[in-house]
Amino acid sequence: DHGATDREIAAVEEHSAHNYHPLPVVIAAAEGAWVTDVEGRRYVDMLAGYSALNFGHGNPRLIAAAKAQLDRVTLTSRAFHHDRFAEFCRSLAELCGKDMVLPMNTGAEAVETAVKTARKWGYRVKGVPDGRARIVVAEGNFHGRTTTIVSFSTDAEARADFGPYTPGFTVVPYGDLAAMEAAVDDDTVAVLIEPIQGEAGVLVPPPGYLAGVRRLTAERGVLLVADEIQSGLGRTGRTFACEHEDVVPDVYVLGKALGGGVVPVSAVVASRDVLGVFHPGEHGSTFGGNPLACAVGIEVVAMLRTGEYQRRAAELGDHLHRELASLVADGALTAVRGRGLWAGLDVDPSLGTGRALTERLLRRGVLAKDTHGSTIRLAPPLTITKEDLDWSLARLHDALT
Ligand code: PLP
Repeated sequence: DHGATDREIAAVEEHSAHNYHPLPVVIAAAEGAWVTDVEGRRYVDMLAGYSALNFGHGNPRLIAAAKAQLDRVTLTSRAFHHDRFAEFCRSLAELCGKDMVLPMNTGAEAVETAVKTARKWGYRVKGVPDGRARIVVAEGNFHGRTTTIVSFSTDAEARADFGPYTPGFTVVPYGDLAAMEAAVDDDTVAVLIEPIQGEAGVLVPPPGYLAGVRRLTAERGVLLVADEIQSGLGRTGRTFACEHEDVVPDVYVLGKALGGGVVPVSAVVASRDVLGVFHPGEHGSTFGGNPLACAVGIEVVAMLRTGEYQRRAAELGDHLHRELASLVADGALTAVRGRGLWAGLDVDPSLGTGRALTERLLRRGVLAKDTHGSTIRLAPPLTITKEDLDWSLARLHDALT
């Protein structure tokens, strides 16, 4: 009987804008790597809120931090100080090896903040003539859904009908250092890049690319802005995906897992000579840096400082990628990419679309999400057990054969 599921979905179709196409499952509860639907069926969550749930559903430390803060104070606005703000900013800056934090709520807001930071830095510090600042971005990027951000998207669906578009962006092929070098000019204030492109299908750039971009931007006096919203905070087996090439960007853009899947928390993190460009009145957010967000964020940072989650992602990730490589060898998958507990799987088109495969996985008790036709993304909570990961991979094998 699918009655409860069908009724819920019919009401969603009727009353919510159709800007998503969810799998037909209605989740009612969750714990760790598992969710339970309204009819009591259980599934392993191999998407983990697009990496917002790196620490698992209902992580006891994060829930305890949130509950304790709920009883004290949840919102002050930045019109006043509150007693969790300094600790959040100090500990997050320290985790990033930087001086300053500018907290926002969603990923897109943090990217917008990074764009504004880079432009202002360009005019005030680099000396770019007024109105000429350019930011170089990569083809296939996904940085969010605001009008400015979709202006430099190369995805027709994300962009069409949302113009006029914000100028000032140059798009170059991802992974092509020569193209990047040719695009950087005297008016370039920043390169904004995902160290691994998530929505594009977990695309890992060629070895040496990020290090090359770092060298180029340093030589040309251009800020390297790393959007680590999806790749960061443990997912790839390191705190930041940039670390795989020993790259330290000028600006980190963080979100998703920073709020532990409990509250939306995002931030731009940089040195004083970059974030110091802001003065009162020039940027802000009613909810940015609120006490509840900070309480959860402080706990997230403390958990990342132990290195435990990065280690799990690296070890289980090696296992995941070994298992997926054998599915490629079997011919069930045409390619697998990724790092740590993060994988993009290209499905043999003769086996159906990515969507069809996620529906077969759903029936077998595994939640995953397709992207761009025939690609499936896997990004389980970093807290998943090896047994649950293997159980899910066995279901994947079954769904593919
Ligand atoms: N940047 C990257 C790399 C992302 O993956 C996402 C979300 O998927 C965003 C930005 C946007 O974040 P949000 O959906 O919280 O606005």
